Amino acid sequence: MADSTSPQVVIVGAGPAGLALAVALSQQGLRSTVLEQQPVEALADPPEDGRDIALTHRARRVLEQLGIWARLPADEVAPLCQAQVRDGVSPLVLPFSAQREGHEALGWLVPNHRIREAAFAAARQAPGVELLGDTTVTALERSAAEAAVRGAGGLRRAAPLVVAADSRFSAVRRMAGIGAQMLDFGRTAIVCRLQHEADHEGIAHECFRYENTLAILPMAGRQCSAVVTLPSDRAAQWLALPDAEFAARVQEQFGQRLGAMTVAAPRHSYPLVGVYAHRFVAPRFALVGDAAVGMHPVTAHGYNFGLYGVEVLARELARAHRLGHDVGAVAPLQAYEREHRRTTWPIYVGTNALVRLFTDDRAPARLLRGAVLRVARQLPPLQAAIARQLTGGARR
Ligand SMILES: Cc1cc2nc3c(=O)[nH]c(=O)nc-3n(C[C@H](O)[C@H](O)[C@H](O)COP(=O)(O)OP(=O)(O)OC[C@H]3O[C@@H](n4cnc5c(N)ncnc54)[C@H](O)[C@@H]3O)c2cc1C
Repeated sequence: MADSTSPQVVIVGAGPAGLALAVALSQQGLRSTVLEQQPVEALADPPEDGRDIALTHRARRVLEQLGIWARLPADEVAPLCQAQVRDGVSPLVLPFSAQREGHEALGWLVPNHRIREAAFAAARQAPGVELLGDTTVTALERSAAEAAVRGAGGLRRAAPLVVAADSRFSAVRRMAGIGAQMLDFGRTAIVCRLQHEADHEGIAHECFRYENTLAILPMAGRQCSAVVTLPSDRAAQWLALPDAEFAARVQEQFGQRLGAMTVAAPRHSYPLVGVYAHRFVAPRFALVGDAAVGMHPVTAHGYNFGLYGVEVLARELARAHRLGHDVGAVAPLQAYEREHRRTTWPIYVGTNALVRLFTDDRAPARLLRGAVLRVARQLPPLQAAIARQLTGGARR
């Protein structure tokens, strides 16, 4: 029997998306319980995971509204002023500049563990949020009146709505009978923070080389995050390299543009799989974050999409709540699904097409890659449109 302390929403997964949703619901006066398999101590002090997250202007605005942005250590937030794209051995560069579009930054880069830490701190202090660690959800039950999840030790939590935010490989999505389109790129991203001699000037570089892809992302100070993406069968070899040799390879592939490089943190690796859920909602059930849309990181949209989804779902649930309607009813969930699909699907498809083309080293693809870059260079409106997509037209 529900009472005034029962959750109105149960969220599975205290990743950055699930925690952001709990805070957003709290701000709308909705109670939630977040269930997470990791211990609470690990959520409060998450280890460095090598991911540096590029956030758009809209994502920053959502984080500001949630009180998460203010909790990020200011000296670890790095503005992204320019991006440069290169192909193969061509000297041609496709530039995207914040200043040319009248902005201070295209976006900001923040270490993922700092986002997780700040999201956890905000959720812990948010009224009406219950956080349970060491709790792996193993079953989902739904009836006309409620949805419930079960975990080890007889734990059961019921609410009008269950939201799964349990990663791109979401087990709870499967428990809800929702399938997903999965695209295994057969590639692995190796991420590593490097120290370097020269100033990076806030410029991110995406180098689509022939044997691997190298991204250099500007971090605070004279540090960058190097992302080496290569066929998965070669990842073990790169991971086993001594630090000095790894740094030397990145330095050499980057053409010494930032001078001497040294490894500043351990390497981490992520197999790359794009995921798009067939549906984002079902009766008394919704997906957010990577559980709904898991992006290839090359266009840096994964968590941005997670935040956009949180914003829209919280808005729709708040509207239903204000009107005294059932928050697990179909109407608010479908409104969320429609808007989130409209936002994410074109970029999901476009990103996958871009990855396929720029990781294809066969001769015709090489020609096409060069042609695409040359045409894009001749189309300043296209560059402006991409910059606008990151900044949302906002002035900052
Ligand atoms: C190399 C790399 C670079 C990236 N760069 C960017 C970028 O520049 N910009 C960007 O926007 N995004 C980027 N991303 C994507 C971003 O990291 C993800 O979109 C984001 O972390 C997803 O958050 P989430 O909360 O949905 O999922 P997760 O972070 O995967 O969290 C899921 C949580 O659910 C918990 N869980 C799972 N199963 C259960 C269960 N059964 N019961 C209880 N708890 C469970 C897990 O323990 C975890 O805490 C990048 C990703 C990678 C790999």
